[in-house]
Amino acid sequence: MADKVIGFIGLGIMGKPMSKHLLKAGYRLVVRDVVQAAVDEVVAAGARSAPTAREVAAQCDVLITMVPDSPDVEAVAYGPDGALAGLRPGTIWADMSTISPVTSRKVAADAAKKSVQMLDAPVSGGEKGAIGATLSIMVGGPHDAFDALLPIFQIMGKTIVYLGAAGAGQVTKAANQIVVALTIEAISEALVLASKAGVDPAKVRQVLLGGFCQSRILELHGERMIKREFAPGFKVRLHRKDLAIALNAGKEFGVPLPVTAQVHEMLNALMVAGEGELDHSAIVHFIESGAKAEVRSAGG
Ligand code: NAD
Repeated sequence: MADKVIGFIGLGIMGKPMSKHLLKAGYRLVVRDVVQAAVDEVVAAGARSAPTAREVAAQCDVLITMVPDSPDVEAVAYGPDGALAGLRPGTIWADMSTISPVTSRKVAADAAKKSVQMLDAPVSGGEKGAIGATLSIMVGGPHDAFDALLPIFQIMGKTIVYLGAAGAGQVTKAANQIVVALTIEAISEALVLASKAGVDPAKVRQVLLGGFCQSRILELHGERMIKREFAPGFKVRLHRKDLAIALNAGKEFGVPLPVTAQVHEMLNALMVAGEGELDHSAIVHFIESGAKAEVRSAGG
């Protein structure tokens, strides 16, 4: 399998470490990003670069995209310099970005017209999971394409599950993002309450981690709130996008998502406050501004 050439488009917080794992595993990579510094870094690690998505697509057996949002995947796919203009029949395209299942299905259908199989394969596990190659990868699309790419997914992730037809991976990711956002919000309320009531939030986190509500989010995002570390990680702007995807899916399938809607509004407020590029643990700022009190630990 390592004889295959992989095209990798989108070398940001996630794409950079993911692409480097593929290089280390012996794959030849052709990469592209709109930010030249990101391309230079991955080229220095052993990849080649190509100037357009079309040229990346034309040179690869497997294309992976890891860009922010639905319009970005469309920008990569369409137009004279888009991937669909370059992809050869038989290539498999795994879009690992988190985007709308509707866009996912549409691009997959257009790819199929070119005899290109497309998988939606969004991930969970954050920057840490990308760096540690421990991502959860949730995959929709043709089953034989999933089987073919499994060895590649296994280089970047640990828990890799096939969910069903095109869009099923994105629906699963929307479900994931609901749980993550609402849990961060719950932890924000809990730690602000503890702090303002005079109980050390670091000790609250410590004891809660040993109890029934222990979670990876309490561990990592709780720590960020206490240490006041809001550099991303996963950006507020991107999580707001993901909850919009979830709310649209709720409308499409007739599922009310009342608390998701509230947390989406909190993320809107953070955007207005100019905090879109902060880590999503900054949801705590919304609770803090209502409480007029910050999460502060005596331990700093
Ligand atoms: P990011 O903003 O750090 O990186 C995205 C990269 O895509 C950037 O380098 C950008 O320049 C590039 N890009 C955008 N449009 C492009 C185009 N048309 N052509 C080429 N490159 C283009 O974002 P990220 O955090 O790496 O997230 C990427 C995707 O993964 C998003 O859909 C996000 O929701 C999802 N995700 C992120 C995390 C996380 O913790 N950061 C976790 C799980 C899933």
